[in-house]
Amino acid sequence: MNAYTLIDGKAAAARVLVQVRKDVDSLREQDIQPALAVILVGCDPASQVYVRNKILRAEEVGIRSVEHRLSPDTSTAQLLNLIATLNADRSINGILLQLPLPAHMDELRALEAIAPDKDVDGFHSQNVGGLSQGRTVLAPCTPSGCLYLLEQTCGDLRGKHAVVIGRSNIVGKPMAALLLKADCSVTVLHSRSRDAQALCRQADIVIAAVGRPRLINASWLKPGAVVIDVGINRIDDAGRSRLVGDVDFDSALPHVAAITPVPGGVGPMTIAFLMKNTVTAALAQHQAQRSQSEAPCHSIY
Ligand code: NAP
Repeated sequence: MNAYTLIDGKAAAARVLVQVRKDVDSLREQDIQPALAVILVGCDPASQVYVRNKILRAEEVGIRSVEHRLSPDTSTAQLLNLIATLNADRSINGILLQLPLPAHMDELRALEAIAPDKDVDGFHSQNVGGLSQGRTVLAPCTPSGCLYLLEQTCGDLRGKHAVVIGRSNIVGKPMAALLLKADCSVTVLHSRSRDAQALCRQADIVIAAVGRPRLINASWLKPGAVVIDVGINRIDDAGRSRLVGDVDFDSALPHVAAITPVPGGVGPMTIAFLMKNTVTAALAQHQAQRSQSEAPCHSIY
């Protein structure tokens, strides 16, 4: 077997969070207390776990968190009212709407209602558009975490050929935009792609965000590829439930230069970048308020 690097997402996330903690401390010295509002509609068990973890992590780094739990029969109008209240609340810097919403709700309308400068998930069309233009915006947390892992593992990404498998709005597309911004040559594959394996075998970097357990095996990989496995799939393994990625880890190992495990790879990075985005949002809002208050008053008289 070749020598490969196991990319440790837990350790990388811990490093990001240490910096976030320092940034929170320095904001507090300026009397700014970063705060994150988390909205959970309904009682989906996985969403409840995600929300609990996000709130715990926020407390650990000194971010104030405010949880809003709404009943499963909440209407879109009621949710929009809450979002409008949080948008107007200057003590709240970030708003996270835990997805998925119950089927009767208008998810897109709710995400678009969040003020772009408080959109710490980076899903608002203004942030999506800004990202596709290569501007610095609040970018989605999972792809941001993947990019951080790649930069730590590969160093300079310029000119590398990256293949992103999956084109969802929350992972695949923003991942491709971030890699383009990092000067990679980017190919995006999806369920209608022809010769997906052959295209993937050309990649220096593979990001698998498909949601199909162990789809990507050795036959998809060029020797020496760096592989980031975003997939989180629960499977039944000889009567025991366990998590696996989109990459067949054992098959891929002899071919890769570096790979993320599942669990313990990309997962911890998502929450770390949510915290980082909250601090970024708090700082940007404070700077915007300060420049507004310092702007000269224009009188019509
Ligand atoms: P999604 O919205 O279901 O998108 C899956 C994408 O994969 C689609 O673009 C689909 O193509 C493509 N696809 C499906 N089968 C394919 C195939 N055989 N070959 C090539 N492409 C194929 O999923 P997602 O929300 O992006 O999530 C992807 C995975 O990442 C899931 O396992 C999810 O649980 C995980 N995830 C993890 C984190 C984390 O924090 N680690 C965060 C988010 C998501 P079409 O567009 O043509 O349908």
